[in-house]
This record gives sequence, C-alpha cells and structure tokens, in this order.
Amino acid sequence: MKKSKSVSIETALAQGLGRMDDQFKGVIPGIHPSTTYEREPDGSYPNGRVYTRDQNPNYDQAESMLSLMEKGEGALLFSSGMSAAVSIFQALLPGDHIVAPKVMYWALRNWLLTFGADMELKVDFVENGDIDAVKAAAKPGQTKIMWMETPANPTWAVDDIAAWAEIAKSVGARLAVDNTVATPILTQPISLGADIVMHSATKYLNGHSDVLAGALITKTKDAFWERIAKVRNGGGAVMGPMEAWLLTRGMRTLSIRVERASSNAMKIAEALQSFDNVESVQYPGLPTDPGYEISCRQMNGGFGGMLSVCIKGGAEDALAVTGRLELFKRATSLGGVESLVEHRASIEGEGTPCPQNLLRLSIGIESADDLIADLKNAIDC
Ligand SMILES: *Cc1c(COP(=O)(O)O)cnc(C)c1O
Repeated sequence: MKKSKSVSIETALAQGLGRMDDQFKGVIPGIHPSTTYEREPDGSYPNGRVYTRDQNPNYDQAESMLSLMEKGEGALLFSSGMSAAVSIFQALLPGDHIVAPKVMYWALRNWLLTFGADMELKVDFVENGDIDAVKAAAKPGQTKIMWMETPANPTWAVDDIAAWAEIAKSVGARLAVDNTVATPILTQPISLGADIVMHSATKYLNGHSDVLAGALITKTKDAFWERIAKVRNGGGAVMGPMEAWLLTRGMRTLSIRVERASSNAMKIAEALQSFDNVESVQYPGLPTDPGYEISCRQMNGGFGGMLSVCIKGGAEDALAVTGRLELFKRATSLGGVESLVEHRASIEGEGTPCPQNLLRLSIGIESADDLIADLKNAIDC
C-alpha cells in the first residue's frame, strides 16, 4: 500500500499495510521460521538480521500494524500479555514507585505484590475512578510508572486517561495503559497522553482464542523503551513466527470484530437490566454506569465487548446460571469471536475485589438475539 499514511486505520488493517509475498506475488506474506541468518562473505548481514530472538520478518508486519493503530513510534511483540506487562516493571530499578488501580488484571496485580515486591518495587493501589486518590499517591521524582487499565477487568470501572496523564507528567512518571479491553479501535491512549500501551494480544487483537501473544507500543523510542527492548531480547520472551503470522491475520479483521462485539454487548447490557433475577449490570455504555461520561469522551464508536452481571443471591446462584447457559462457553479469557462466561471471584480467590455474585461475560460476534435468549433462559428460569 503506497499511501498507508493517508488511508484510514480500517483500510490499512484490512490490507495488512499492503505487505505482500514479494518472491511469489502472493497477497499474504509468508511465515519465516528461520532462526538464523547467513552472513555475506565479508562477514556483514545483508538484511541487518542476525538471529530471530528479536529480528524475525513476521514480527515486523505485526509491530508496524500495532504502531499504526496505537499512533506510536514503535512496538514490540511478546510471548504473552503478561510478559509484555512484566517487561515494563523489569526495566525499573529497586525502590522505584508505581501507582496502579485496585481493580486490574488479577495475575498482574499478583505479580506486582510478589515478584514486584521481591524486586523492591513499591506499589500503591488506588481506588478505580478516584482521581484524587491518584493525585495523592503519585510521588514527584519517585513514581516511575503509573499503570492504568480501563475499562478494568472484571468490574469495567473506568478511569480518565487524560487526567492520569496530566498527573503522571507533573511527577515525572510514565503513564502505561493496559488497552486490552478497549482495543485501539475504540481508544488510543497515546493520543490521550499515555507513554506506553500494553496489550494482551491473546484477546481482541488476535481475536480467535488460538494464539497467546502480548505487545507494547511506545509514544517515543526513548532510553526507557530501549531498556524494555533489552529486557525482551535478554529474557527472550518473544513470540514465534507462526504466532506472529496468525496475530497479523487476526488484526486484519479487528475493526469489524470489535464493532460487532460492542454493539452486541450494548444490546445485551440493555436487555439484562430488565431480567427478574439480575441485581445489576456493569457496562460503561449504560448511561447509568459511573464510567459512562468518561467513556463517552475516551471511547469512540462503542463501549467494548466486555460486561459483567450481578445475579440476585450469592456465589452459588451465579455459578448455577453458568451451568444453565448453552451458547456461552464456561471458560476464562476474552476477546474471541465466541461468547464466554466466567465466575471471577472463584478464579481470583481470597482477597478478590470482585463481588461473589458477579459473572463476567465476553461477548462475541454471534447473533445478539441468540445470546440474550440464552441468558434469559439461564438467569430467569
Ligand atoms: C488476559 C489479560 C492479560 C494477560 O495477558 P496474557 O496474554 O494472558 O498473558 C492482561 N491484561 C488484561 C486486561 C487481560 O485481559
């Protein structure tokens, strides 16, 4: 694609940035499994590639698509969302301070509390949606990373990226945003002032529940970014070429998948509100949701495919609902084309901030009417 800068993101994504298989004129570039590259007789490397740990051609296309979508200067693929997130913290130094939300991806919160603490990283967890708490927690000169996740898994609490960015700037910290749930189709954190964007590309970016993948995108390729790149290269938490190729294929349909999942989720959130056995619905697209106003400002074209529903009663009543669902698969994860349900409190265990009667729904691209009927049957039986 010659004019990739001047076309819309949807066009650039659908056409995979116009990259092709130059050798055979195939419209889809090939998979490059080679782990190593031959030197010229004079010892030089003609393509600048030496070894696949961070120099595989299949990474290039996916990383370029990620940079374009997130409006960053550079992107790095990782073997998982966790390895992407953790690489940021591994690039810090003992004693560095982090501000993070109380409700966030559970495994990462646990990592910060265990390995992060062993590395002498100091973390303050703040109430989601409480900007005064963020201001109070940020320490000039000491806070190095302000970590956000919005909407936050699994309550979908919303935080204001631009407001956090201002605070981060005022204390000399970098703002990193886990944008897995919103996706760059709906929210572009760098445009709102973030420095680094993180994705579990396992979720919407790949979109088919068949690749484990992570990514970071940076606003500027500064010294801290180079350090993160060294963490990846040194630790080797890169993905394989086959996974990068699959991820690239998945990203070509990202915009229509996200649009469909979002419009389905909106219809389902609205329908659930009138169910007899529903206590509450957590979805930032509902005008009654505490995050609605901020979401209207920082999400474009939809409120995402994730929502939660609190069932009247306790954990047992919520779990019984999952047993009666027929279309929703009882499985962890999110962002695939198929709808999933999960009782989060029993997964997160002791200390979870998640209500016991909450079910997390990842809405896929099926017919919204079919999904609503399945929920009605399981909840109001
Ligand atoms: C799944 C997920 C992660 C972790 O990603 P993996 O690819 O499973 O390692 C991080 N953040 C969010 C919001 C997630 O949903």
